[in-house]
Amino acid sequence: DTAIVLFNRDLRVHDHPALSAACARAAHVVPLFVLDPAVPAGGRRGFLLQCLAGLRDALRERGGDLVVRHGDVVAETMRLAAETGATAVHAGADVSALARRREERLAAERVEFVRHPGVTVVPPGDLRPSGGGDHYRVFTPYWNAWRRHRRRPVLPPPDQVRLPAGLAPGELPPHPAAGDLPGGERPARERAGHWLRHGLTGYGDGHDDLAGDRTSRLSPYLRFGCLSPLELACRAAHGEDFVRQLCWRDFHHQVTYAFPRINRENYRRKERRWRHDRDALQAWEAGMTGLPIVDAGMRQLLAEGWMHNRARLIVATYLIGRLGLDWRDGARHFFEHLLDGDVANNSGNWQWVAGTGNDTRPKRGFNLLRQARRYDPAGDYVRRYVPELAGVPGARVHEPWRLPSLPAGYPARLDGTDDQG
Ligand code: FAD
Repeated sequence: DTAIVLFNRDLRVHDHPALSAACARAAHVVPLFVLDPAVPAGGRRGFLLQCLAGLRDALRERGGDLVVRHGDVVAETMRLAAETGATAVHAGADVSALARRREERLAAERVEFVRHPGVTVVPPGDLRPSGGGDHYRVFTPYWNAWRRHRRRPVLPPPDQVRLPAGLAPGELPPHPAAGDLPGGERPARERAGHWLRHGLTGYGDGHDDLAGDRTSRLSPYLRFGCLSPLELACRAAHGEDFVRQLCWRDFHHQVTYAFPRINRENYRRKERRWRHDRDALQAWEAGMTGLPIVDAGMRQLLAEGWMHNRARLIVATYLIGRLGLDWRDGARHFFEHLLDGDVANNSGNWQWVAGTGNDTRPKRGFNLLRQARRYDPAGDYVRRYVPELAGVPGARVHEPWRLPSLPAGYPARLDGTDDQG
């Protein structure tokens, strides 16, 4: 018999429960990825295509291949099932509303549809608060339960993937040349290995240092599943601060699983209203607000498709707290440009900053200028991303309005000129 393995955001062969189960249970296995023409061109699509090329290579090394089709995922999967006589479809279970709808449609088809874990360390829904409710709303109790939870074993990649005869794998669209962060499981594993050996021990002290840039930058690989979060959590077990971040990722995924409208609706405080101001939004998007720490973050996003977590917190707080704009406008822009942009982490974090999410911390004392001086004390992060300010020395770069005149090309402050940050 034949089984299809439908890849989605699990583009790897290591620790892939759906692939391993299909290889163990079926005589022939068809690894499939369906490219949705709606995925917009741009950084994330290029990264995805690199991941797919790497996955195809890894499957070919094991005697298999990656079948690539274009169009609607369910229709193409069922077409391939009819072509190959496949009787089962295996896939990694996901959490977003879109993914869940796709899973429901597949489950209603005339094949056996089997959902597997693998997108998070602990599958959403496996942990439930003892006080009742279907999911955790507060992080700390979730973390306490999460770290005690018994994990499934990390799976080795299958030795062999046996394709049915006569299958046309289909062309992959040309992928862009790899940049600083090349897509795919191989570069992901190399980066993770290097990080675990050299980065992890300094993470607790260094992760908020904007200019030092001492976080793992594994997020795009986790986003596309080039790395198994479970394997990473096990290998990083001695670095509690880092593992805690992986738990935040799981936390937002279990909230999204329980509340799939998270990218559209406030999780709490449904009635909260925001201002609409296109000009202000555009200035924020372009990194032209006149507040250097905000502009540096926004320009890092445009330049690299990634932004430091501390900068994400600062720019989001600015958009919501200072400009009074809707968190969804900010989240949309992030989602468009982030290589790691995903519904659960993006919406969950935006709602957290907006105070509409779960587990909202008090906003008192989040002074943006103080943040700038604390996390970019020498001003190097700002000068790296805002060339108009490259000639302003030291921490003075955070307050260009105090200079005798504003450096050429740099805007005046959009949010007024008081010193509150
Ligand atoms: P590290 O510090 O090395 O952390 C390791 C991993 O833990 C990350 O790769 C990520 O998978 C996970 N992680 C770390 N922090 C968080 C967090 N706060 N929430 C959830 N997971 C976390 N992360 C995304 O992956 N996708 C997003 O779309 C996204 N949007 C965000 C929007 C806002 C407004 C904010 C404040 C944060 C957002 N984050 C998002 C979380 C965080 O900023 C990034 O995961 C992190 O900066 C990625 O860099 P890193 O891999 O070097 O992280």
